Amino acid sequence: MEITLIDFNDEDKRKLLPLARITLKAVRARMPAEPPLGQRPIRCYLRPGNKPRVIVSDDDGYSIATADHYRIHLSATNSYSGHFVYQFSHELGHVMLDPRRSNGVLEILAVAVSLRAIKDIAKKWDQKPPLRPITSTAAVLRDYIRIAIEHELMEYSADKATQEMFARRDPDELAKYASAHVADQDSKPHHRLLNLAGALALVADFPWKDLVGVARHTIPSPDADGQYREDLPLDLSALPLTVQTALQKIGR
Ligand SMILES: [Zn+2]
Repeated sequence: MEITLIDFNDEDKRKLLPLARITLKAVRARMPAEPPLGQRPIRCYLRPGNKPRVIVSDDDGYSIATADHYRIHLSATNSYSGHFVYQFSHELGHVMLDPRRSNGVLEILAVAVSLRAIKDIAKKWDQKPPLRPITSTAAVLRDYIRIAIEHELMEYSADKATQEMFARRDPDELAKYASAHVADQDSKPHHRLLNLAGALALVADFPWKDLVGVARHTIPSPDADGQYREDLPLDLSALPLTVQTALQKIGR
């Protein structure tokens, strides 16, 4: 899937295009199956101040149902390469899940895709550092996970015990935390701290290849109602058994 960066300045484009390609490759390596809406060129628009997202329909008549490309809005530029990889891989996660649906579980899964992408790319860079114009390193990229966690701890004014739990990054402990907040997963699908707890609990061991198209399992399915919906739970019993088992860790 060819990537085009739109509205980024030339310097950012030069550095971010190779990074975007590496990110796409990392996500596709984990999830090689055809995306639910097929392979298409990806157009990434810089929209600072907007919530990053895969566009399902837009004011200018764009509709994912009929378009020949994916449209992704991002707000990250080149100041942190980790930020760009984190955002872009999250949105690619939605492309692979089915971008017409979101909810608390799907947000946890999209965050997990982004953590996996960062870890996979950093591992490659440990062996062979990236070529210019990419100036980042494995350590800098990996450190973005810490930055993202600390940002959300601040954002949600987390108490000391929660801060310490996230600092330990113990998957079992984070899984318990996510399970204890299962009602919040549903009522606050974009609660990024909770999304991170679930994602950190899942990231080390997850059946990534079975994740493709999982967001189609809502009632109604996105084929029956193609509008963007984030008010529908997943029909968990319809998911691949491997995914059902993995999600049990976070109380689903
Ligand atoms: Zn998302």
